[in-house]
Amino acid sequence: MKIIDILQSGRPSLSFEVFPPKTESAFASVEAAVEEIAQLHPAFMSVTYGAGGGTSAYTLALAREIKERHGVETLAHLTCVSSTRETVAQRIREIREAGLENVMALRGDIPQDMQDADRSTWDYRYAVDLVRELQGFCIGGGCYPEVHPESADQKEDIRHLKEKVDAGCQFLTTQMFFDNNLLYNFLYKIREAGITVPVVAGIMPITNANQVKRAIQLSGSHMPQRFKALVDRFGGDSAAMLQAGVAYATDQIIDLYANGVTNVHVYTMNKPQVARLIQRNLADILGK
Ligand code: FAD
Repeated sequence: MKIIDILQSGRPSLSFEVFPPKTESAFASVEAAVEEIAQLHPAFMSVTYGAGGGTSAYTLALAREIKERHGVETLAHLTCVSSTRETVAQRIREIREAGLENVMALRGDIPQDMQDADRSTWDYRYAVDLVRELQGFCIGGGCYPEVHPESADQKEDIRHLKEKVDAGCQFLTTQMFFDNNLLYNFLYKIREAGITVPVVAGIMPITNANQVKRAIQLSGSHMPQRFKALVDRFGGDSAAMLQAGVAYATDQIIDLYANGVTNVHVYTMNKPQVARLIQRNLADILGK
């Protein structure tokens, strides 16, 4: 099934993200976590792609299992910036042969050793280059309510986003954000710029204090005072922080649904307990 059909159904959807292990020895434990999350029957599940492609076989294996064994629709991520055309063509062939219909087309972060290299020699510079090679798939792309860190300003970022959509990207998933007003503002601006595809809101439940620093480092997301207070107060107590983090994410999601953002993707970080608690909190809203 194409994910665009789920997103356009008009009903509130809740989907989950998982990531592949870095090593073979960790595969079984990730597989078990993924199975538990799949048993919640989310609208779909996405499987991230490790930077550089070193774990691409695990992404494919997990995506395949989610779809074939657990019967949950799957979105396989793929990045391009540090890959050659031959490698990307091979990955696309593998995804197609696995019977997967949905691909998240991402540029990927630029590796340190590529930072100063001559960009004109790269096979792929932006996600839009990958979107053009994925025709026939249902294609998703990333977007940034708080502006991608490499963009000079939001206007420029939205101009490039529009190019990605015009090239064939059928839906967008946002970077995590902790203040819904940032998303509402962003949605207003992209709709004004003529981007009409569904936007899936990406929500990261922060359930332990160590996650906060890393999440902010990676995403550059703004931390509202309300959220900072919660981490300061409960960060030292793991059970309390889990409860508070799940409550904060639940509150964000309910506000999104209430304001017409019908599709929400939770960055579950391979934690079935977090996915389960959030889904339970939304059971009546989701009709589950
Ligand atoms: P792009 O859309 O290419 O944008 C990157 C920057 O280039 C932006 O500043 C944009 O404005 C600019 N730009 C675009 N086109 C042009 C142009 N023609 N000229 C000049 N500038 C341009 N990373 C992983 O490694 N694996 C994953 O699985 C993964 N999953 C993700 C899922 C989501 C929902 C999101 C939001 C991000 C994910 N990332 C993942 C991180 C992502 O790879 C990085 O954020 C990366 O820096 C940008 O990727 P992009 O696809 O958004 O890039």
